[in-house]
Amino acid sequence: MDWLREHPEVKTIRVAAADLNGVPRGKRIPARFADKVMTEGTKFPFSVLNMDIWGEDIENSPLVFESGDPDGMLLPTERGFMPMPWLDAPTGLLPLWMFHPDGRPYAGDPRQALARVMERYKAAGLTPVVATELEFFLIDDSGKTLRVPPSPRSGKRRTGAETLSLRALDTFDSFFTQLYEACEAMDIPADTAISEAAPGQFEINLMHQSDALKAADDAWLFKLVVKGLARGAGFAGSFMAKPYELWNGNGMHMHFSILDHEGRNIFDDGGDLGTDVLRHAVGGCLEAMPGSTLIFAPHENSYDRLVPNAHAPTGIGWAYENRTAAIRIPSSGPAARRIEHRVAGGDVNPYLTIAAVLGAALNGIEDKAPCPPAFSGNAYEQGLNQLPGTWAEAIDAFAAAPSIRRIFPPELIENFVMTKRQELHYMAELSDEETVELYLDTV
Ligand code: GLU
Ligand code: MG
Ligand code: MG
Repeated sequence: MDWLREHPEVKTIRVAAADLNGVPRGKRIPARFADKVMTEGTKFPFSVLNMDIWGEDIENSPLVFESGDPDGMLLPTERGFMPMPWLDAPTGLLPLWMFHPDGRPYAGDPRQALARVMERYKAAGLTPVVATELEFFLIDDSGKTLRVPPSPRSGKRRTGAETLSLRALDTFDSFFTQLYEACEAMDIPADTAISEAAPGQFEINLMHQSDALKAADDAWLFKLVVKGLARGAGFAGSFMAKPYELWNGNGMHMHFSILDHEGRNIFDDGGDLGTDVLRHAVGGCLEAMPGSTLIFAPHENSYDRLVPNAHAPTGIGWAYENRTAAIRIPSSGPAARRIEHRVAGGDVNPYLTIAAVLGAALNGIEDKAPCPPAFSGNAYEQGLNQLPGTWAEAIDAFAAAPSIRRIFPPELIENFVMTKRQELHYMAELSDEETVELYLDTV
């Protein structure tokens, strides 16, 4: 509320929550009702958070049809109001999450799913420290076809070395200046920006922090602000996993370590290899990986990204300082010993991804899960067990995995499976171009 009080010029607010796909759902409200929304919240039909990518209710959902789809209650998160610098009019944004009318958290809300995992950590006296790395394309979509070269300057040919290219960053310098200003105003801790491997592809890392819910909020809001500012500048900001067949896709890597109640990193053994607890956490993540692939690769297009030789994982394995692995232990000083989980694409719901990774790691720690030996060398040549290769396989694996039932409540699992089956059914009829058009800046 503080931010809004300091900005009397704001006449309109938005209230919004993330649906299962991470798509923001919300309302535009005159700012004079802000106090009322702050104290009483607002209402959406429950089905709104459980919609497919088109925004259609899930067919056969008991929620929609058997119950008559009543309203759920949406309450503000701790974050309060923030500006929406990509809109012309000064506007405040209030992120929300969903509860039942009697005050119980609504289990089908992805943010509530992450909060539930965080309760398990709290009960164990542990605090994860989380950072996300978001890759995205800035795409010139002035033409009708969206599979055009992404950089307005890049023409129809490759433009040379793009990874860490200063030229590519400088081409978009005014965009990045606006983006960093917006992140600061919205309290999104944006760290370094780099140009990534493909033309028009960039990556910004968000700072690590010991509040996983805030880390997820930040990633969700970051996607919103990139898309909004890009739209304003006349191009598209896309987190789609693989918009270009020939170029690397967009990942959303997640780094995490875990602190005990005295603030000590339980992965740090003072050396380079990390503790047994680190290996149990990795074991838990590997065990849950076939089941959780659907969370990390939630759309048909996500499976185009998970191919060899694109710095994206295909096999279920881990390694030290190795960018071909699904799980990489980055080289670092012992105190920063951490896990980099590399499976998620840019198209994920950050709440579900962070919940799936942290939940799987905790499963592993609780079980003292066995961990296979780290491999070295090229992951694509290790004969590793493979991630589910198709969307359909991933949906079935998610629906059946016991590790997933430990992480997510039954209601969320059921709704997510129904949503994805419905999308799969309709997607089969779409051409490649229609797919790009649908996903480009939706996810
Ligand atoms: N773009 C790669 C991916 O699809 C990741 C590149 C990197 O290592 O940062 O995940
Ligand atoms: Mg990268
Ligand atoms: Mg990374």
